Amino acid sequence: MKKIQMVDLKGQYAPIKDQVNSSIQEVINTTSFINGPKVKAFQKNLEDYLGVKHVIPCANGTDALQIAMMGLGLKPGDEVITADFTFAATVEVIALLGLTPVLVDVDSENFNIDIEAIKKAITPKTKAIVPVHLFGQCAHMDEIMELAKAHQLYVIEDNAQAIGATYTSKNGTKAKAGTIGHIASTSFFPSKNLGCYGDGGAIFTNDDDLAHTIRGIVNHGMYKRYHHDVVGVNSRLDSIQAAVLDAKLPHLDSYNKARQNTARKYNLAFKDHPNIITPKAGNGCVTLCDNCDCHVFHQYTLKLKNVDRDGLVDHLNAKGIPCGVYYPIPLHNQKAYQDDRYDDNDFQITNQLSNEVISLPMHTELDDEQIEFITSSVLAYLT
Ligand SMILES: *Cc1c(COP(=O)(O)O)cnc(C)c1O
Repeated sequence: MKKIQMVDLKGQYAPIKDQVNSSIQEVINTTSFINGPKVKAFQKNLEDYLGVKHVIPCANGTDALQIAMMGLGLKPGDEVITADFTFAATVEVIALLGLTPVLVDVDSENFNIDIEAIKKAITPKTKAIVPVHLFGQCAHMDEIMELAKAHQLYVIEDNAQAIGATYTSKNGTKAKAGTIGHIASTSFFPSKNLGCYGDGGAIFTNDDDLAHTIRGIVNHGMYKRYHHDVVGVNSRLDSIQAAVLDAKLPHLDSYNKARQNTARKYNLAFKDHPNIITPKAGNGCVTLCDNCDCHVFHQYTLKLKNVDRDGLVDHLNAKGIPCGVYYPIPLHNQKAYQDDRYDDNDFQITNQLSNEVISLPMHTELDDEQIEFITSSVLAYLT
């Protein structure tokens, strides 16, 4: 059996080696290392893939979030509501810009920001909601957009984990994750569903004016050469990373399908086990049917009931199976983001999840032998 890894980037590279290498070689041949034709080509191809008017590439997913908030003109004192259960980058940039982060609890079923919790947190100072499509699954966008409309708030989708997921609205309309809110950010960190071979990120929006503003912000606030109209940043996707991404983009759907197939096999193996709750897709589907495109399984995350999680982690590691706990500490309990306004009772689901979750190996290259070894090793510990 091949060695089991959390992410297998070498295995993913092998079948596309020629495409990636020649794409990188083109950049070297032209020496257009910054803002070269590859960056423009990738931007256009990603706009077409997502069905969004503007993709603005930048240096990483954290910058993308920050620049999105700068582009919307959010100011110190403005409150921004986001999920307590996410990677720290989401809340970090809110705090960094001097905005006021307002963390709220999540939904126990899909791990995403809870609608009732958002409602409770809205004040006259609230300016934006940042839903995170955590682990590859779309947040409750219909409800979030309704709330945003009613209270005149911006919606910034943190789409670092769900590129390629499709959200189906109650009225049947389908849209790619990251194209529903006013603006979205994504990350091309190597282990993300569409990863480059270094750092990369992008901002998406359908708003022409906002796109124009942001194209200046990423380039030192410059709209005309050496005229600096606003305080900007330097945040670029370099051409070599764009070359890798442009070679990988045509494979994104098949990569996400491979992740969904693995998730389906895991779900089947753990079905009805009293100590395990498997992920469900948006419509509550456990078998992850063909209509479950709202989940692209950046992570495959179980909830454990009455299980010694540390013991299970040790057991799996001893068998050569890596696993992860995302995220072990709720953000409201992190030193950097503590706030006297928070009441621990308002974060019951996040508190519970940080004790119960475990993520199993999830990538595009897992084979049946590995999946069977992983599932039987998990089950052996539980019986
Ligand atoms: C990865 C990630 C980010 C940050 O992306 P970087 O490219 O590492 O800066 C932001 N938010 C979430 C939810 C992420 O998973």
